[in-house]
Amino acid sequence: DSALVWFRRDLRHTDHAALYHALKNARRVWCVFVLDTDILDALPRHDRRVAFILDSLRELDAALARLAPGSGLIVRHGSARTELPRLAAELGVQAVYANHDDEPDALARDAQVRGKLSGLGAALFTSKDHVIFERHEVLTGNGTPYGVFTPYKNAWLKKLEPFYVKPYPVAPYAAHLAAIPEKIAPLWPERVPTLPEIGFEPVTDLKVPTGMSGAEQLLDDFLARMDRYDEQRDFPAVKGPSYLSTHLRFGTVSIRHLASLAWARMKEGSEGARVWLSELIWRDFYHQILHHHPHVVGGAYKREYDRIKWAKGKEAEAHFQAWCEGRTGYPLVDAAMRQLNQTGYMHNRLRMVVASFLIKDLGIDWRRGEAYFAEKLLDFDLSANNGGWQWAASSGCDAQPYFRIFNPTSQSEKFDPQARFIRRYVPELAPLPDAALHAPWLARPADLAAADDFVLGRDYPQPIVQHDVARAETLARYAVVKAPD
Ligand code: FAD
Repeated sequence: DSALVWFRRDLRHTDHAALYHALKNARRVWCVFVLDTDILDALPRHDRRVAFILDSLRELDAALARLAPGSGLIVRHGSARTELPRLAAELGVQAVYANHDDEPDALARDAQVRGKLSGLGAALFTSKDHVIFERHEVLTGNGTPYGVFTPYKNAWLKKLEPFYVKPYPVAPYAAHLAAIPEKIAPLWPERVPTLPEIGFEPVTDLKVPTGMSGAEQLLDDFLARMDRYDEQRDFPAVKGPSYLSTHLRFGTVSIRHLASLAWARMKEGSEGARVWLSELIWRDFYHQILHHHPHVVGGAYKREYDRIKWAKGKEAEAHFQAWCEGRTGYPLVDAAMRQLNQTGYMHNRLRMVVASFLIKDLGIDWRRGEAYFAEKLLDFDLSANNGGWQWAASSGCDAQPYFRIFNPTSQSEKFDPQARFIRRYVPELAPLPDAALHAPWLARPADLAAADDFVLGRDYPQPIVQHDVARAETLARYAVVKAPD
């Protein structure tokens, strides 16, 4: 009756399903995190997410040691497919507990680990932890998964009961956390390695506070403005959203805790809380879409959209590079891409704007944008990112028709009216008057000259495409969707 808890995207020691089940069922419990080279080897050597993980592991290790002296986190570095069964054998445990990870690669990895463990006479038990409802929990009356958000959300809210947001108590069973045996020598001087010790460059520009304490700090801050979320969330220059996405991604905060806070305030009549809870429901929605429709990885959710022929060749390549680097000549698009490159975060409104711009102004395959976000976003999550990109491409779960195309200039005027966000990330435009900042190519030459002798095309790019022309091309490109097979 000894067990191992395998931490993955759930880096906390409170309200943790797998840890709770292990501690309740076994008398000696150890905890492990595998720095999985199957994932890490594919990442660039400068990666803020790896820094986030290591910092968060340090806090988790210390927290476990505080719960039960001598215990803590065992950290391994290698392929989880071999490291995990090896450690289970070294410790001689009968069971391994983990929380569900429903991404296709993770499911394949878990199946392999389960097989190897069973060869050792040990079982792998997994539980729901990362979302409120998953897999087959919210289905239509016919027993099929939902493909449209609003009816899904209504069914989700109808199913919600206090039981589903109740925390898993861990502290009462903490005595079952066992000391790490001498033979399990740490691989590094401190139990959790530094970035260079696992082959990554040091990171000095991580702006998100890490670990459970970082999540708590962001949450405290957000609770003070949650009631205004509905009014403020769409303006990138305003501190409107929670900035908790990276913490939700890595599980340094419990989704049950967040959902119960929002639910309670919603019931007291807070419109902000209602809208924020709805965002958390989007997260569950895309999670179940990925589970039921794994073809969305690499393919359109609505399969007829795979017929579209995307722009290719030298010009498309140059456009893609300009988009990545934030030099398209559309200030809001450029500011957003520079925010992503500099911080690893991008405001939700801007994710929609830049995704629409790449797909419907530049005619570039949404999968290329999806991949660029996957590399850069601190909060990168396969299901939410894919869902967001397919939404922008109109190939996903969306009731809007594809011919509703965002106009990047009017989005800018509407959501960054004083161009405060643009000025922050595109400082070369800062001297221009507000009105000229949304579309500098339309500004009067006298206004430009009056602004420190600003020259468009020298100090900031001319727009790389014309929106009206691009819009017409997109409508033509998308026409194949309506054609019969
Ligand atoms: P808040 O506004 O405070 O929202 C709270 C939480 O709700 C978020 O942290 C997130 O977990 C969840 N959430 C909010 N909106 C969505 C949504 N549309 N879909 C799913 N979950 C949502 N979110 C990611 O977590 N990872 C991604 O890789 C990701 N890629 C995206 C790509 C595109 C093209 C688009 C349009 C959206 C993407 N989103 C992604 C959703 C959303 O933009 C971010 O979750 C949000 O901006 C994170 O900031 P926040 O924590 O301050 O959000």
